[in-house]
Amino acid sequence: MTMHADLIINMDTILTMDKDLRQLDDHQIVVKDGRIIDLCPQEEKRWTASKTLDGTDCIAIPGLINTHSHLPMSYFRGLADDLPLDIWLREYIWPMEAKTLNSSVIHDAALHGAAEMLKNGITMTHDMYFEMPAIADACTKAGLRALIGEAIISARLAEGQKPGDQLRILRQEYRDNPLVDFNLSPHSIYACLRSDLETSVEVAQELDLLLHIHLSETKEEVQTCLNKRGMRPVQYLKELGMLEIPLLIAHGIWMDESEMDLLVGTRASIASCTDSNLKLASGIAPLKGWTDKGINFAIATDGVASNNDLDILAELGNTARLHKAINEDPSFLPAAEALKHVTINAARALGVEESRGSLEIGKDADICILDHNSLCCQPLYNPYSHIVYAMNGRNVRDVVVGGKIVVQGGKLTQVDEAELIAKAKHYGKRILKELSQ
Ligand SMILES: [Zn+2]
Repeated sequence: MTMHADLIINMDTILTMDKDLRQLDDHQIVVKDGRIIDLCPQEEKRWTASKTLDGTDCIAIPGLINTHSHLPMSYFRGLADDLPLDIWLREYIWPMEAKTLNSSVIHDAALHGAAEMLKNGITMTHDMYFEMPAIADACTKAGLRALIGEAIISARLAEGQKPGDQLRILRQEYRDNPLVDFNLSPHSIYACLRSDLETSVEVAQELDLLLHIHLSETKEEVQTCLNKRGMRPVQYLKELGMLEIPLLIAHGIWMDESEMDLLVGTRASIASCTDSNLKLASGIAPLKGWTDKGINFAIATDGVASNNDLDILAELGNTARLHKAINEDPSFLPAAEALKHVTINAARALGVEESRGSLEIGKDADICILDHNSLCCQPLYNPYSHIVYAMNGRNVRDVVVGGKIVVQGGKLTQVDEAELIAKAKHYGKRILKELSQ
């Protein structure tokens, strides 16, 4: 007897990224009500469905999970490059934001970024910015999942405003939206007062939230913390109680071994943003140290103002190569292991590993389908190898989020790409004009 589903994807190759790293050949992914309900050999013909996708010459992997981004910065791509982080941030990005951003620009820029993420195979992002409803609406429109952090910069808090005030309201307002959720993102230990960091911890504890913070991105940040607090940044987080709650540290480049030891056994993970860190010359994160200590980490894009793209697969390849070289060890971060850092380990970092990060029955149908029928991908001996070392975002053919096909044949299905490009051109001119005044 055949049973009926919403979507069947017939695949040459499925890399499940489950705990046994099972590879399923000539299988189908069966989707109903947004979830994977079966992974079975195509020849069994157990299912019929309203929609079918043909995955001949393709590899299915879990939808990629981006653990650190700033979606609304899309329109700042390429506006200020070749600068160190503190000058880039204080003399360019923050003043540009103050001059040019409002909620409609943020919405449009976030929609641009969300569409670009989907085209790169990303099905969920963890964003940190202001104007959360604008970001939530943009992600919903494009069909991208997003955990959106209420960004806290103490100098920008309104009179009487406390960390978490907006988040409480928005969690209620968007409770029926399956694509978006909200958490708390104190920007950094240098942009937040101690009292705001303490309040953030209290709110995270009360609401059982993941806290998201930039940390140890530059040597200077560590030195300032040592001068001001007499301790290193991770010790300061410990003093604030942040190591007792789920925590996502963005960067963590200049963490020393004593700080890594403090993270062992906690619920902290790290989002490492190789391309952004290289371009700002912030440094190279100690991935080998984290691996040796068993600290969970993921590879993330950061915003396009510092990356300057959202091609997380290309970034994964760069990361694997870089860390083999600096550790003088070509066996470090082998391809299958590397891929975990944008799938299951990234899901774990966001606390969503029960429902995402691998292709398994019962999990959300968040799927990235990569086309290997091209000169750069043939012959194909090992799919993990091609994904990490030969492919990039341009190999993404289809993307499914919660059972909905949001990219098909390389084209966005929910938003008009030409319109997004036209808008970006328009805003580009406007931003230049506003900056010149
Ligand atoms: Zn960032």
